[in-house]
Amino acid sequence: MMTINKDIERCIQKAESILVTAHVDPDGDSIGTQLAFRRYLTGLSKKVSVINDGVIPEKYTFLPDIDKILNADNYRGRSVFDLAIILECPRPDRIGLVSRFITENTTVINIDHHPDNTGYGDVVHLDSRASAVGEILTEYFLDVGFTLDTDTATLLYTGILTDTGRFRYDSTTRRTMEIAGLLIEAGADSRRICDRIYYSMSEATLHLTAEVFSRIKLHDNNRICLINLDHNLLRNPKYDCADIEGMAEYTLYGRGVLAGALLKEIRQGQTKVSLRSRDIINVSRIAAGFGGGGHINAAGYTVDLPADKAASDLLNVLKEAVHDSV
Ligand code: 5GP
Ligand code: MN
Repeated sequence: MMTINKDIERCIQKAESILVTAHVDPDGDSIGTQLAFRRYLTGLSKKVSVINDGVIPEKYTFLPDIDKILNADNYRGRSVFDLAIILECPRPDRIGLVSRFITENTTVINIDHHPDNTGYGDVVHLDSRASAVGEILTEYFLDVGFTLDTDTATLLYTGILTDTGRFRYDSTTRRTMEIAGLLIEAGADSRRICDRIYYSMSEATLHLTAEVFSRIKLHDNNRICLINLDHNLLRNPKYDCADIEGMAEYTLYGRGVLAGALLKEIRQGQTKVSLRSRDIINVSRIAAGFGGGGHINAAGYTVDLPADKAASDLLNVLKEAVHDSV
């Protein structure tokens, strides 16, 4: 057994009350792995609270136990925990408002696959070669002898499916596929999960998708794709219930595009940028230059600028990166 897994088990055994959390605006991997971890801990008769900052995207509401994720904004329960398990989160401040539940006396376990994880916490289990935290946790559960039931397998499979972009990213390895196979064997219904996440758009989401495609701008001989969503569009009540998570992928749908960015002016004068790239173009470095971070081919940051100004600043940097790479 890996010694790090033993350390994790030891912390869990000692703890009375456990907080499980992940990065703000949880995605498929953070939601799936938090709920899988919760199932494991409740099986050990531990008191567990899963608390997140940000909304759960509609496409994940079919997941087992989804109602067990509490929102930090309106959480009124226990506020002191012996142990915090932080998943999928490169820096402690990325858990957002949930940080108010962690004190000096809280033991922190950090389990992540982001290459830019700072290594915070008392027990640190990092594996940047893992495609998803879902992959790391499956290995952990196998190692500690936790039997995967259908619901746990569904949660872990969702983490891997979504964090690999449906097994598309370079992070997808033979091991990823083997683990996904084990999860299918344990009851994860691969077709149903994929359908529920990717082929179940609401009408509002379909129409917002049309807006996103209509705003595609290609630059630099079609090697760069920018999509600008200004505040006027995003504040339209028509799109209030639309699910925008994952739409940054569309920046790479064009033939020959090497780098793409979806710019969302979430508030007047404040823009969240999602970067995507192919091959050796390292958008994590570009995001870090603007105060953000992420993976080589998927990263992000937020700036206090309107979308069009954020786009022109970014375009110069992307052009340099593309020119350096070809
Ligand atoms: P997305 O564009 O889908 O929001 O995020 C893509 C990747 O970049 C994710 O791995 C996410 O954790 C990371 N990321 C997005 N925004 C930020 C940010 O503001 N700061 C950091 N450190 N990472 C980010
Ligand atoms: Mn993620």
